[in-house]
Amino acid sequence: LLDINNVSKQFTMGGLLSRKVVNAVEGASFSLSVEKPEIFTIIGESGSGKTTLARMILGLELPSTGTISFRGKTVSAKVSRAERLDFMANVQPVFQNPFEAFNPLKRIDRYLESTARRFLKLRDRTELDRAMDGALQKVGLSLAEVKGRYPHEMSGGQLQRAAIARALIPNPPLLIADEPVSMVDASLRMSIVNLLKSLRDDLKVSVIYITHDLATAYYISNRIIIMQRGRIVEMGDARTVLDNPEHPYSRLLKASVL
Ligand code: ATP
Repeated sequence: LLDINNVSKQFTMGGLLSRKVVNAVEGASFSLSVEKPEIFTIIGESGSGKTTLARMILGLELPSTGTISFRGKTVSAKVSRAERLDFMANVQPVFQNPFEAFNPLKRIDRYLESTARRFLKLRDRTELDRAMDGALQKVGLSLAEVKGRYPHEMSGGQLQRAAIARALIPNPPLLIADEPVSMVDASLRMSIVNLLKSLRDDLKVSVIYITHDLATAYYISNRIIIMQRGRIVEMGDARTVLDNPEHPYSRLLKASVL
């Protein structure tokens, strides 16, 4: 499904005299297969390169070196508009703060509707409503509950669900969820985490789950990569890695939450 092949990203900051190169991601490689939907977790402390890696997978940044391909097609280079749209329909983002994901001045149903128009090319009112309601039902909401409401009229947990529903509208096989529960109240966190689990189990959607929370990672992940300063220091079956971390950094990470 997705192949990340020796991907690196460098940022150059500052002026001529104080040029500083930041190696945000160095030599990352991994693959997700189509046959087995999974929750693939990227964990690491702040600044370890998780978001940069996610942004490259989403096509929001181009890698400095290496390639990213989706279903065998390279997407980490300049591609046509149509190819980009097709890729975006298949790989959808869920961001940390749902209040930033939505336009505060735009009704939630209008936002979902524009996604359905864009990716599903729907125009008919009944069909649009059916597509939106179908996606909202998958996250435990309904169109009736959301219709006419603005983002500030919903709780953070409800809005994150609505953001996930928006991401599900094109029926993507892959979601990239960048710290999707860190802005959600602790009491609602597990419900969102369980929702991601049910998307995998019931809808066969794979999720790249980015977090620094070891407990939720242990609970939902199939595989995990541990990142430190841009490098993948450990990768494998989540339970195996987290039960018996081999790299000193992974051990430190585990020790810090116990
Ligand atoms: P967090 O958990 O805080 O979101 P992260 O693991 O997602 O952190 P990144 O945001 O990917 O880490 O950042 C990795 C490194 O790259 C950091 O040193 C960061 O300062 C640097 N970096 C990220 N984006 C840029 C940018 N646009 N320009 C310059 N440096 C950047």
